[in-house]
Amino acid sequence: MKFNENLANLVSYEAGKPIELVVREYGIDAKDVIKLASNENPYGTSPAVVKAVGEIVNKMHLYPDDSYFELKAALASKFGVSEKSIVIGSGSDQVIEFAVHAKANANKGILTAGITFAMYEIYAKAAGAHVFKTKSKEHDLGEFLQIYNAKKDEIGVVFLCVPNNPLGGCLDAEEIYKFLEQIDADTLVVIDGAYQEFAKFKDAKKEIKPRELIAKFPNAIYLGTFSKAYGLGGMRVGYGIGEESVMSELGKLRAPFNITTLSLKAAIEALKDEEFVKMTLETNFEEMKKYEKFADKHGIKRLPSFTNFIVFEFERQNASELAQNLLKKGIILRDLKGYGLNAVRITIGLPSQNDVVLKQIGGNLK
Ligand SMILES: *Cc1c(COP(=O)(O)O)cnc(C)c1O
Repeated sequence: MKFNENLANLVSYEAGKPIELVVREYGIDAKDVIKLASNENPYGTSPAVVKAVGEIVNKMHLYPDDSYFELKAALASKFGVSEKSIVIGSGSDQVIEFAVHAKANANKGILTAGITFAMYEIYAKAAGAHVFKTKSKEHDLGEFLQIYNAKKDEIGVVFLCVPNNPLGGCLDAEEIYKFLEQIDADTLVVIDGAYQEFAKFKDAKKEIKPRELIAKFPNAIYLGTFSKAYGLGGMRVGYGIGEESVMSELGKLRAPFNITTLSLKAAIEALKDEEFVKMTLETNFEEMKKYEKFADKHGIKRLPSFTNFIVFEFERQNASELAQNLLKKGIILRDLKGYGLNAVRITIGLPSQNDVVLKQIGGNLK
């Protein structure tokens, strides 16, 4: 059978390995597996969310309220924007897909950092769009502008991942605003804030305020997710915030009931428990210090992180081999070989998990 030719050069997104795989392949008890490969919340989910979802599990035969009225109202009030400037996605991944399909095609490509979230490229290629990347791995806005100015007519969407997954660095809000001033009103700029809660907790200069962003720059949209700080990765809820006329276009691409009845409830309740998020952020950066100290002590290169993960880059050590050795012990890390790096990305886990992981890495160092 012949398929759409855009699929020919598409590579599937490599998700973090699941706990089930380690149980099957290495015979390790599921409860002993330490999964620090997908930047999930190690503290789980707010107990209030678990309770609220438990109370409506008998409603799963019903479609959710497709207007997502209550969730949009809560997000609108949190960010000081109108309900009409919000689009809900099955994870913010889906809003990325809406953005790409709304603007990119065979004549209009996308522009991203050299190493960044892989889904931008996957959706772009699926739409037959060209992917322009900076040579710099992290976001170098000077280089972004150079490429943009040279290829303006061929670029429909610019992606800024702040903070950047899988590396962990983060642009300042001011730098982004200065950059936006030099971008045409017809180019969509997507600010992916999947880890914004972490970044602004660590450094106020990193905070992107969606209301301010879209008021100044109607061609920019902000993306947020419940998958990281809010601990709802398995529920698949994310959102986009943008100027109303932009979001009504993106919204045309949304299928009805694109999140579930249970996910909707979970997201609404999660927004009410900011204490849980605060605890997550505090412990994350406390625990990250263990990794920083360890790296410095052993001469491992670590990238500065404004997120819930840290990257260890190696010189002598083969990172893939290290990740494989740890996998056999039931520890799942993310090997960054696919990004051309001899490095692993480690989600900051529970204190006890971090101790085990560092001990195992230490035992494997060359
Ligand atoms: C996790 C992540 C997302 C979105 O995840 P969803 O679970 O689809 O909401 C988006 N961008 C980046 C950079 C991420 O790391």
